[in-house]
Formats: sequence, C-alpha cells, structure tokens
Amino acid sequence: MQVEIVPCLSDNYAYLLIDEGVCALVDACEAAPIRAALGERKLTAILSTHHHHDHVGGNEAFPGIPIYGHRSDADRLPGLNHPLDDGDTFQLGPLRIRAHHVPGHTLGAVAYEVTPRVGPRWVFTGDTFFLAGCGRLFEGTPAQMFTSLHRIAALGDEVLVACGHEYTASNLKFAAHAEPDNEAVRARIEAVAKLRANNAPTVPATIAVEKETNPFLRAADVATLARLRSEKDNFR
Ligand code: ZN
Ligand code: FE
Repeated sequence: MQVEIVPCLSDNYAYLLIDEGVCALVDACEAAPIRAALGERKLTAILSTHHHHDHVGGNEAFPGIPIYGHRSDADRLPGLNHPLDDGDTFQLGPLRIRAHHVPGHTLGAVAYEVTPRVGPRWVFTGDTFFLAGCGRLFEGTPAQMFTSLHRIAALGDEVLVACGHEYTASNLKFAAHAEPDNEAVRARIEAVAKLRANNAPTVPATIAVEKETNPFLRAADVATLARLRSEKDNFR
C-alpha cells in the first residue's frame, strides 16, 4: 500500500490509500487539494474519522462512492452511506479495514486500522489520537479518551499512526512540560523540528515511539489524563 499525505486547509491531513487499483481516502477535508492529488485516479471509498467540518467538508464533492463513518453520526456526517459499528471489518480490494469506535474527541469518532497484503499496518486516528498528543474533549469524557487511546496503542508497537492534523511540534512542547526529564521527548523535538524546517509532515509515527513520548498515552490513569488535558487547554 502506498499512502499519499494530502495537506488540506491550514493544518489538516487527508490520506490516499493506494493499492492494486484501490484508491481510498481518509477524510475528505476539502475537495480541491484532494482532486489535485487524485489526478486521473478514481476514488474508491471515503473513510470519515468524525463529523467535524474540517474532516468531511469535501464528502459531498465526491458523489456516488461509499462513505464510511460511525452509525451514531448518521444524521450529522454528510453523505454517510456505509454506517459502521465498533469492530466492523470490510475489504477494499487488497486492504483489510477494521473500524474501531474511539469516542473522546467526538462521540462518533472512528479509527481505521488498515492491513495491506504486504507492508506495515496503519491506523488512521482523526482527531482522537494525535502524534505526541490527543484531541480536545468536545463530546467525550476523559475516561472515554483514555480507553480510546489505549485501544489504539494496543494495536501493536510496529503499527503506523496517521492523524488528522499537523500538531506534533506543539504537542511535544507540552510533552516536555509534562515530563521534563523524558529524553525521548527531547530527541523527538529535534527530529520533528528538522522535518518541519523542510515543511515535511511528521506523520506517520509508530505506536512504539508514541508510547515513549505521548504524555496522554503515558498517563497512568483517567484522572491524570483529565488533568493533562485541562493543563494543555491552557498551555502556550
Ligand atoms: Zn475534529
Ligand atoms: Fe480536526
């Protein structure tokens, strides 16, 4: 599987998953850059991570194709025609997709685990699990976010995480504040700064790297996660 990262809006990422004639899109953030990235290729499916406009604003620009999302978002996710329940699996050509319901950022958030025939597994996490961070709790509780992050982390150390926004550098600033003695965080800040200096995306990262550097994943319990989340809301 070839994954093309499509920068959209100010700091969103959409992803094209390309393999043996399949061309699936994670999050139709906005139509124009996605059309440009597609070129002559035809879209096979849209996997929507959640109903926020910056993730689904382009859904209706691609009529007639399957649009996946969580069943509970049926009345607010534009174009949803393949509602998913937690744990549903389906095949897009050579790609095995598993939907993980991961409430926290929103109540209908879905992370898509993608297993190609060859190559590493990926998980597309939307705004639930960010590299070195986690999404704001717009609808869910700290307990839901805690469970959702750990469910994603349990997919395996080698799995590649691709999230919905380029927030990694600012997330790492907070990570260094939360864990001033974490050497892995310091090293990652430098690596990420180099990438960003070349305007390169920081996605994806492995679960293994996240376990070492993501303060929300390293929070021992729900109360700690809740404290970190509210500290981060006021952190600059
Ligand atoms: Zn969102
Ligand atoms: Fe977003």
